[in-house]
Amino acid sequence: MYEDLARIANHCLTCGTCSGRCASGGLDGLDPRKILRMLVYGQTEKLASSRWPWVCTQCGRCVVACPEGVDLVAIGKALKGMRPRNKVPGSLHKGVEQVLKVGNNIGAPKDEYLMVMEEVGEELAEECCPGFKTPIDVVGAEYLFFPNSKELSGEPDDMKWWWKVFYAGKLSWTVPSENWESVDWGLFTGNMEASRKIAQYKVDNAKKLKVKYIIAPDCAGGSFGFRLNYEQYFKPELNAQGIELVYIYDVLMRLFKEGRIKVDKSRNPELVTYHDPCKHGRELERASWHPYYDEARWIISQCCDDFVELASNKRDAFCCGAGSGAWAGPYLDAKIHCGRLKAEQIKKSGAKVVVTSCSNCRDQIMKVLAKEYKLDIKVKYIWQLVAESLVLE
Ligand code: SF4
Ligand code: SF4
Repeated sequence: MYEDLARIANHCLTCGTCSGRCASGGLDGLDPRKILRMLVYGQTEKLASSRWPWVCTQCGRCVVACPEGVDLVAIGKALKGMRPRNKVPGSLHKGVEQVLKVGNNIGAPKDEYLMVMEEVGEELAEECCPGFKTPIDVVGAEYLFFPNSKELSGEPDDMKWWWKVFYAGKLSWTVPSENWESVDWGLFTGNMEASRKIAQYKVDNAKKLKVKYIIAPDCAGGSFGFRLNYEQYFKPELNAQGIELVYIYDVLMRLFKEGRIKVDKSRNPELVTYHDPCKHGRELERASWHPYYDEARWIISQCCDDFVELASNKRDAFCCGAGSGAWAGPYLDAKIHCGRLKAEQIKKSGAKVVVTSCSNCRDQIMKVLAKEYKLDIKVKYIWQLVAESLVLE
């Protein structure tokens, strides 16, 4: 493994392009080019025990510009994997242990989970969706959706936006009663064995419930971890059973294009911008899969007229600073540092609403960047924008 990393690093021409594009650069006196020099000079262990692998957000912005294609994302993941598990920072490894034991990162027992899901469904029915009942383990539903433990433990009302859109569009969908975690902290900790197991849970649920589509998790890292495993291990088997992977953008576009949901643009008079989550865009493109750049903008255009792009966007977008487990990690100073360029661009755009599609990006921009960089903005999930614009019949 050490030799492999040194071999990759040996391709480096030391041109510095990567360092000029990296939002994490400067932290702890390091930057991508220095990392590669350290690998070439055999300092792999020193790097693996440093915090660099955990503050590099694995955004891939360096890799797409490197003339030699040096893959710093793969290097970062390998360095994370070298860390003894009891030395993984913060609660990430504990979450991995929990998901392997009980099927979710927070160790929630089944009855507690079911109670929250049912209660949130009852509230939604009372608020605006008469007759709504949380669809748990509905065999033969069209779409399978996985909740995020962050929502279950602290922000259960956030689930109502998805559910309201699904209700309005009369979508056939379900959530599983067990092994429901959407997020993939296996990927975040460089533990690809755990990542595969987490993906296996989703696959097993899809087969058991005989769905047609698995919706990739809203957490961009969760969706990317699942996508990696889906492509590598599960796709032929699932496709043979008529089960496919889709993203939330596909579902929202379908509902719009089939005329199943109607929205009122006048509810969104403020200037809107979009933050591209790295792993719904650039990282998919880098893996030769379809990146969801234009779909996000099309969905936003259905809900408002006033839109502005950030100076760096789509393939060139900066990470918000939360990527690859950094949001759940303990290094607040790094989160603030890595998000500064994104914050500057948001401020310069003049946007009052920042829309995004990943739970970690949303939290980082809303809870860290807005506060630290005094941004006068609202931050919304793309499905929240749709839900708040809905005209319910
Ligand atoms: S862009 Fe590529 S070649 Fe240039 S310093 Fe970075 S890794 Fe080396
Ligand atoms: S993946 Fe992103 S954060 Fe990591 S070194 Fe490259 S540009 Fe910097």
